[in-house]
Amino acid sequence: MTETILQNVAAVRQRIADAAWQAGRDPAEIRLVAVTKYVDAAAARQLIAAGLTDLGESRPQQLWAKADALENEHVQWHFVGSLQRNKVRRTIEIATLIHSLDSQRLADALHQEAESLGRTVGVLLEVNISGDASKHGVAPEAAAALLDHAARLPHLQIRGLMTMSHREGGPDVARRDFARLRELRDQLLFAAPENVDLGELSMGMSDDFEQAILEGATIVRIGSAFFEGIVS
Ligand SMILES: *Cc1c(COP(=O)(O)O)cnc(C)c1O
Repeated sequence: MTETILQNVAAVRQRIADAAWQAGRDPAEIRLVAVTKYVDAAAARQLIAAGLTDLGESRPQQLWAKADALENEHVQWHFVGSLQRNKVRRTIEIATLIHSLDSQRLADALHQEAESLGRTVGVLLEVNISGDASKHGVAPEAAAALLDHAARLPHLQIRGLMTMSHREGGPDVARRDFARLRELRDQLLFAAPENVDLGELSMGMSDDFEQAILEGATIVRIGSAFFEGIVS
């Protein structure tokens, strides 16, 4: 297993570097988040051994369990899935960045728990750019109102936007979706209060991260590409 994971990590890193080169970007400005939802803590530890420091989970209980099992490791956790309000507290105690802020109610809950913990919580607004009914995220037309609301909550630190591309569109559709997220970011920034920072674009998964990098992704979230030949 170790050998395969090391090879897969090296291959993903090379593809990130190639896409960055094609886009005229520095690969060092693209953060690689390894999504560990398909595997157990032992396999996640292999990714850490391969030099990855940012790990992501999409279900709160899995995040909590993995963080417990890996508490001696140096990991920055990302939460990338849908978050119910009653799971906010424990989740923000672990995760440094919540990629999935998609409602005012969730913004309020995150703010309240962060305040009671005496800290701020980093968030990305998740936008349903493709309009797929199966996807989470705020509609693009509603993103400005959510941003406006969240920007008034001092314990939230807004860092950017997150999206997933259209499920079955292929690379060209994915690239168009990612371009639309970047354009939406530019529009939002134009109208936003001065203290709002939207520097991060979290977009691109195993099947489409190269397209995302070409369109300005600063964070890619990659899972299955690391486990090819290990989990089916
Ligand atoms: C599972 C998941 C990923 C990783 O997907 P892969 O296609 O396996 O790379 C990225 N982002 C989110 C939100 C996910 O749920």
